[in-house]
Amino acid sequence: MNSTAASVHPSADMLYANTDFTQLNWLEMQWVNWYLWIGNPVIATGLMSFLLHEIVYFGRCVPWIIIDSIPYFRKWKLQPNKIPTAQEQWECTKQVLFSHFMVELPVIWLFHPLAEAFGMATWQVPFPSWRHQLPQIAFFFVFEDMFHFFAHQALHWGPLYKHIHKIHHKYSAPFGLAAEYAHPAEVMILGTGTIAGPLLYCWFRRDLHIFTVYVWITLRLFQAIDAHSGYDFPWSLQHIVPFWSGAEHHDFHHMAFVNNFSTSFRWCDRLFGTDKKYQEYRARIDKMKKLNLSKEEFEKMERKMIAEAEQEGLRAEAEVEAYSLTGKKKTA
Ligand SMILES: [Zn+2]
Ligand SMILES: [Zn+2]
Repeated sequence: MNSTAASVHPSADMLYANTDFTQLNWLEMQWVNWYLWIGNPVIATGLMSFLLHEIVYFGRCVPWIIIDSIPYFRKWKLQPNKIPTAQEQWECTKQVLFSHFMVELPVIWLFHPLAEAFGMATWQVPFPSWRHQLPQIAFFFVFEDMFHFFAHQALHWGPLYKHIHKIHHKYSAPFGLAAEYAHPAEVMILGTGTIAGPLLYCWFRRDLHIFTVYVWITLRLFQAIDAHSGYDFPWSLQHIVPFWSGAEHHDFHHMAFVNNFSTSFRWCDRLFGTDKKYQEYRARIDKMKKLNLSKEEFEKMERKMIAEAEQEGLRAEAEVEAYSLTGKKKTA
């Protein structure tokens, strides 16, 4: 290969000239084969990143689409009166796909050069051990959660809400596919929280492999899709790890418009007091559960509470939208 790319990046077989293949596990061998097969590390990384995102995103959504179609699971639906229709899910899928190809694909393509500039290992094998990866991934989770907490609140500020974040709030009862249903600017702003952690870590420590970033992105996608699923099962993670947010936390944000701005953990909202309304709501539901109501009575009261929270949310949303830069609020 005599192209300019070849002078910047060595050809794939040269990359592995000093690699002892007998020491590699199955996954590492597949990794090597992929880079050898594609032949150009920039294209190989770009394509793998894009495919990973598509496969994990839609793959994780499939179980939730099935669960939505089975009435048995309704008893664990957080807003049981709102089941997304097939039409709604299809419309959402089209929008998400459009944004994946038009916004994320070009950005993902830039990721390999960016990763290399920050000193990240990409084509290299073997992968770091899981003991090495674990604290790095924990750091990415904490960094992203804090970044998202502040950026998400900024998106609830009048002008940013009206022009950007309103799209994501289209669904007051979200479902898995709606996790990435958002304005392109929001995808970029909030996506920064996911990517900046690894880049910063890499910049200061110079010992990060893109494989670890893939594990992190997979877990982050699971987190985002599950948080939008609309279901709280007895076996959901938040019942095992009490500071994990889960669907129960984020569903309230979509239903009531206020409170619960973070992604993975509950501590930021607790610390800054942005979960007060949510706490009150949960306390009322728990009290209701202790009243020995019949199933019908409970459902009736729950629906009433959901409707109230939603009405209050609509008022809060109208207030945010009425904000004008001149400082005066337009009266509705
Ligand atoms: Zn929001
Ligand atoms: Zn959301």
